Amino acid sequence: MNTPFPPPDLTPVFSPEVVAQRVKDLGTQIATDYRSLLEPQELLLTIGILNGAFIFLADLVRAMDIPLEIDFVRLTSYQDRLESSNYVVMLKNLEKEIKNRHVLVVEDIADCGLTLSWLLDYLRQMGPKSIRLAVAFNKEERRRVELAIDYVGFNVEKDFLVGYGLDFAQSYRHLPGVHKLKASS
Ligand code: 5GP
Ligand code: MG
Repeated sequence: MNTPFPPPDLTPVFSPEVVAQRVKDLGTQIATDYRSLLEPQELLLTIGILNGAFIFLADLVRAMDIPLEIDFVRLTSYQDRLESSNYVVMLKNLEKEIKNRHVLVVEDIADCGLTLSWLLDYLRQMGPKSIRLAVAFNKEERRRVELAIDYVGFNVEKDFLVGYGLDFAQSYRHLPGVHKLKASS
């Protein structure tokens, strides 16, 4: 017998249609903002954070009709229980130079904010012309560090979400809508 999919322990939060429309609108807005910033021949550099941002980035850039390039970083963060601090480790670095470039960081979700604030500090040291941040989902309530987000797809509660790039033990990233795990509410 086939296993039901998506499984019954998921509760829908945003339908695929709602997510797709919002991301399209956000891409249009971002493109409008950058159109006046970019000089002739200049390309925006979008940086996606692997793995979670790959779907959001793919949809977002296809709604942005401006010249741009795409690069990725891969980060992982560890919690040090003794020091009650977080370490971020870069598993894959940028391939493009960002000095003097307009940079848009694209992430799936802002939670505590530690990963993103670490990455923004790291990128700022390399002298970009500007850095903005776009996240598909924002859990403001969970923030532990200050984080300025320029573009938010959806503000969400603190439930654990899956789908649209977000995983649970690497599963569910490919679901086109967003769901919460029943156990997390
Ligand atoms: P933080 O902002 O806490 O440093 O880390 C954010 C990262 O935690 C995200 O990139 C994502 O990988 C993970 N994360 C935070 N909230 C959720 C969630 O609701 N669902 C999933 N699947 N991952 C989450
Ligand atoms: Mg992530």
